[in-house]
Amino acid sequence: MNINRDIIISDNELLEYGEIDNLSQKAESLLKHQKENWDLVKNNFNALNDVQIKKYDFSDYYIRTQFNPSRITSTSAKVDKKSIENRKCFLCPQNLPSNQKGIDYKNKYVILCNPFPIFKQHLTIPTYLHTPQNIEHVLDDFMELSKDLGDNFFVFYNGPQCGASAPDHLHFQAGLKNSTPLEENIKMLIEKYSTNIRIDSPVKVDIVQHDLAKFIYLQSSEKEIIKKEFNKLYDALKSLENINSEPMLNIICGNDNEVWQIFIFPREKHRPNQYFMDDNAKRLISPASVDMMGLLITPRIEDFEILTETEIKNIFSQVSFNDEKFRKVKLMISN
Ligand SMILES: [Zn+2]
Repeated sequence: MNINRDIIISDNELLEYGEIDNLSQKAESLLKHQKENWDLVKNNFNALNDVQIKKYDFSDYYIRTQFNPSRITSTSAKVDKKSIENRKCFLCPQNLPSNQKGIDYKNKYVILCNPFPIFKQHLTIPTYLHTPQNIEHVLDDFMELSKDLGDNFFVFYNGPQCGASAPDHLHFQAGLKNSTPLEENIKMLIEKYSTNIRIDSPVKVDIVQHDLAKFIYLQSSEKEIIKKEFNKLYDALKSLENINSEPMLNIICGNDNEVWQIFIFPREKHRPNQYFMDDNAKRLISPASVDMMGLLITPRIEDFEILTETEIKNIFSQVSFNDEKFRKVKLMISN
């Protein structure tokens, strides 16, 4: 792999901004470096310090909304084939702004600061190569990365048709650990809203069905076993939707004490009907992993101010996998 070394920051430079004993610390140093050397990053991360947040209570669970104007480009990104072909890819190394620096990962990926953050620590991790977004052959990398960044970050993947604003360029993201309603409520969701379908197995498989959080949850310390379980689910979703391409999904992966936790949100649709409406009925909300984790991003103040509990519930019911499909998937992966 011929890597353009100009974008890679040296360990010596990173050391000026903090400890660099592991990848998680290096990434934190990189963020500090970028905040000091890139005004856009400094301003957008500073804006997070007084970002407006609202909390909406639902039975046992809650959703937070975040008014974040810097996300407008991503939320309203045109991801159809023609629009993608007609724009310069913003994740290709040769197109990165000159003040953007990164950390090499396995000679295959570069860890970058996300200049339009949702979290106080937010990374984008594209491959060097311009290759389509598809999790199937990079699940191992995704899991390894979640472990290497695991002290302070969780890693997430948005499918090409449900949230990735660059569906043509493979990339992951990483956000500050323990900063979403999903992570804060996982214990309760498992206890009250889950069906466990593997009991005597090195991998624990739960299907969680709360109206505002419908996902499959895999936990194991054994990577190959969790990958096998993931592939089984991936194939089941493909056959259920009768497609050969990747099923619509968002995937979140964390690692605590050598145990991986993978959350898979199969999706019914990318954007809710409200996204395409006019005037007062329009809600510029385009759910991806972070939204599915209970942190709903609204880049426009009018949506942030007006959004109701009923609308939030309606949006989640449109974009989440429906219960009938969950019933079928459960049967398909149970044996
Ligand atoms: Zn690209």
